[in-house]
This record gives sequence, C-alpha cells and structure tokens, in this order.
Amino acid sequence: MVPGARLVLLGKQGAGKGTQCVRLARHYVIPHISTGEIFRNAVKLGTEFGKRAKEFMDAGELVPDDVVVGVVAERLGRDDVKVRGLLLDGFPRNVHQSEALEGLLPPRGIDLVIDLEVPTEVVLKRLSSRRVCVNCETNYGVDNPPSIDGKCDDCGDRVIQREDDTEAAIQRRLFLYEEQTAPLIAWYMGKDKLVAVDGVGSPDEVTFRLTRAIDLRLRNV
Ligand code: ADP
Ligand code: ZN
Repeated sequence: MVPGARLVLLGKQGAGKGTQCVRLARHYVIPHISTGEIFRNAVKLGTEFGKRAKEFMDAGELVPDDVVVGVVAERLGRDDVKVRGLLLDGFPRNVHQSEALEGLLPPRGIDLVIDLEVPTEVVLKRLSSRRVCVNCETNYGVDNPPSIDGKCDDCGDRVIQREDDTEAAIQRRLFLYEEQTAPLIAWYMGKDKLVAVDGVGSPDEVTFRLTRAIDLRLRNV
C-alpha cells in the first residue's frame, strides 16, 4: 500500500473493529483515529465536552453530528494525517458524517472503506462477554481472556466491563447501526470505494483477510 492512504473500517459494534484497527495501524504505520476513544478520553478527563458526550454514549445514542464532525476536523488538521494518511474507526456513522468527511479531505476524499462483516447473532454473543482495559483499551472476551483474571496482559491495569455495554445500550447501538450506518455501505459502493471482508474467525485470520483486501485494492492509489 502506498504511504498516505486514507482508510475507513466500518462494522457493527462487537465486530472486532477496534482490535483490527489497532493491528492495521501498526501494520501500515498510519494514524488510527477512533472517535469512540476520543470521547472516552474526554470523559476520563472530566471536561465539559466529555460530560455532554457521556450522556449520549451511556444511552447508546449517537453524539450529535456537529460535535463529532468538529472533533474529527480538528484531528484531521494535524500534520501526521497529511503525511501518513489515516485509518478511521467509528467515523463516519451516517451519510451526513460521510459527506462532511469528503469536505475535510479534498480533493480525493477517502481511498477505501472496508466493511467488516459479522452477523448480529455473533456480535451479540461477543458483546455480552466483552471486557476492556481501563488504561490501554485492549479488548478481551470469552475466546481471549487476559492470562490473569481482571488484569491487562499489555499494561497490567484493570480489565472491566465497559460502562456503555449494558443490554439496553447494546440493542440501541445495533438498531442505530442498521438505521444510519448500514446505508453507508451502498453509499461508498456507489463511489466504488467499498470492499467487504468476512469478520468471522480468529483475530489473526481476520487481519490477514483485511491486509490482503487492502493491498489488492490500493495497489494503484
Ligand atoms: P462501539 O461500541 O460501537 O465500538 P465506539 O467506541 O466507536 O462504539 O463509540 C462509543 C460511543 O461514542 C458511541 O456509542 C456514540 O455514542 C459515540 N460515538 C463514537 N463515534 C461517533 C460518531 N461518529 N457519531 C456519533 N457518535 C459517536
Ligand atoms: Zn491495558
């Protein structure tokens, strides 16, 4: 893949998007930009902005578009993105956000959008067992628990259930995904920027499929 590529990874919550984004960002040495992570950091810092975002997040609602777009615009203005490209995780989440994104990255916009496909039944099973490190955000689950119960393998901090992983919030996020995010698949397909990748399998298998798909599509970018 050429340096400076601009990628988006789309997928339901629990599809393994976060884990795969961390791996892809390392593999291609491109900045990983996760709106969920930006919001969670603001919540931790206790800023006014974080307090407002937390109410939406805990309810499984989307943070209002103008707020999200503002945050992303600020992040995309930094030099690393211009030089190294980017991998977006959790943004865009609806057509309005994807239109705004094209405006932020003139002239060619995004190069490739990868839809990480995982059936809803599988995602629900993964989410009920999802645990996350409070410090470095490494994800764990029944298939990949930390080696010491409740303790992160990477940094040693506490591994807990995410505060917004309640049953009601999970259902609401899946509903909003179908209603608002899934239409982006057709939207990017219409621009010939979409590739679908099967997200069911071991994390290594899925990473292999992703890099293969990206390398094939971006040979000529
Ligand atoms: P997921 O659990 O689906 O991986 P994220 O970690 O990406 O979710 O985001 C957590 C929460 O942050 C979302 O439920 C939502 O409230 C908010 N959020 C993140 N990205 C966006 C976005 N692009 N638009 C609106 N809200 C967002
Ligand atoms: Zn950790």
